[in-house]
Amino acid sequence: MSKKVEKAKCIINAEECKGCERCVNACPKSVLKMGKEFNFMGFPYAVYAGSGCIGCAACFYNCPEPGAIKIVKLIEED
Ligand code: SF4
Ligand code: SF4
Repeated sequence: MSKKVEKAKCIINAEECKGCERCVNACPKSVLKMGKEFNFMGFPYAVYAGSGCIGCAACFYNCPEPGAIKIVKLIEED
């Protein structure tokens, strides 16, 4: 019998980020942080740790910038 495994990941569009940190504070899994680099507007941007996202979308709903955050859910079948 196949088993479904759901995975999620957060994709930050660095060029749309204004560095407000709302997503970092909203994430219940603490998998977002502010990076040390700056985008073309001169703002530091949020960075995803690369794992641990549960796809809750709290970051997405707290972000004031349309297009800065995308949540992708992948469903894999064994
Ligand atoms: S979707 Fe939820 S768990 Fe994933 S990065 Fe955003 S706030 Fe964190
Ligand atoms: S909430 Fe949006 S604009 Fe603010 S740091 Fe996170 S991605 Fe950037």
